[in-house]
This record gives sequence, structure tokens and C-alpha cells, in this order.
Amino acid sequence: MKRKPLVTGNWKMNGDTVANRALLSALRSALDAELLGRIDVCVCPPAPYLVPVAAALDGSGIAVGAQNVAAWDNGAYTGEVSATMLADLGIAWTLIGHSERRALLGETDADVATKAQRALAVGLGVIVCVGETLAQREGGETESVIGAQIDAIAALAAKADPARFVVAYEPVWAIGTGKTATPEQAQDVHAAIRARLDRAGAPADRIRLLYGGSVKPASAQALFRMADIDGGLIGGAALVADDFAAICRAAVPA
Ligand code: PEP
Repeated sequence: MKRKPLVTGNWKMNGDTVANRALLSALRSALDAELLGRIDVCVCPPAPYLVPVAAALDGSGIAVGAQNVAAWDNGAYTGEVSATMLADLGIAWTLIGHSERRALLGETDADVATKAQRALAVGLGVIVCVGETLAQREGGETESVIGAQIDAIAALAAKADPARFVVAYEPVWAIGTGKTATPEQAQDVHAAIRARLDRAGAPADRIRLLYGGSVKPASAQALFRMADIDGGLIGGAALVADDFAAICRAAVPA
């Protein structure tokens, strides 16, 4: 039996008050209670919008996540937002280690593990992003790169509540490029991630593994049907209500 699917929208650094209101109102109409009983849905707006988005989604069954969390608890860390603060605001999830942060801000596997530890300690769910670059894939390094990214968080996965520990496989070459991994390519990596988590003593059969990278309504269903793909992390298409709703519908188990 597959795990309960999760579809998460990563809005990245997009949106404003007016656009968010329109997007959320369309999502509330499109994602009814029946659908939200069968899959979990989360949206991750930029930090300043977390509270108004949570208010707009109150009672909807759609969860809210942050796109990042600090590696430190409250204190002299100008510009950072702690896990404690996110939990205080009622935020359910946080993305950690998105490839844009790894590439642009130099986040390391060790940073990712520290952030995940902080978030889990205060009861947040974590969606840890892993993935290889095109050069790494072409150099035959996919398994070793992702293996190292998974090993950095495996001990946490072994201790965490599997309902709150999610890994998103996002091949860097597929993010925002329009190039989606084939369902078979994605499945191969997902199966390897699950096997690696299992070897590390984590409850791998209960940990959700999401695919991310240019998922669109037309490509979603074939990806989500694969045995080890439990939903998606959606970037560009998460900003278009009809597309995001269609991707959520594609995740509903047959
Ligand atoms: C992402 O930002 O995590 C992502 C998968 O983006 P896109 O769907 O636009 O490729």
C-alpha cells in the first residue's frame, strides 16, 4: 500500500498580496474536502506572506510551509527565521536544502542536517530536497551525490516521526527548465533513496518521497503512479491555480 500522497507548492520568491489572495481563493474552491481527505497539500510562500497565507487558508485543510529555516535557535542571527518562530506561527512544514539555496547560498549537507534537526525538534515537518546537477548525472555521479545527501540526514530520518519526514528528489537539471525526468528515471532514484534510508534504519516504507522538477498537469500522473513516488514538489506550476489543482488531482490514488 502506498503512502498518503503529498503535493507541495514552492512559490519561491514570487507573489504579492493581491496575487496571493486570488491564487488562494481559487485553490480553496478547487481543492475540496473529499480530495484533501485523500492527499495532503501544502503551499510554501515567501516568509513575509506566511501569516497572511495561513490566515487565508484557515479551515481549508491546505497546510502552509516555509521555504527555509535557520540553522540556529533564536538569538543574534540578523535576517534569519527560526524553527521556533515558525512553530509559534502554526506553520506545519519547512522546505530544507532546496537546490537554489545549495547553489546560490552555499548550503551544505551539514547545514541541511542542522536545519532539519532544529525543525523536527519543535514539531515542524521537514521536506528535505536532494538532487544532482546535469554534470553530475552525465559524469555517472547521481548515486554518490544523492547518497551523500541522504546519508547526512539518515540518522534524523531514523528517529523522526515518518509522517513529518519527507524527502524531495529534485534533479537540478529539471528545476525550472521544462525538462522533466522520465517517470522511470525518477523511480530509479526514488527506489535508491528508499533503499538507502532503509539501510540506515529509517522507517523507509513510511517516509514520503516527492519528485520535483518541471512537473506540469500533463506529466504529473505518470510520475505519481510510480511505486516509490509519493507526490510532488511543484515550482512554476504552483503559481497557476488550475495547474496546481490539476497536479493535486493527479496525485489522488486510483
Ligand atoms: C522547485 O522549485 O522545487 C521546482 C521543482 O520548480 P519547477 O517545478 O518550476 O521546476
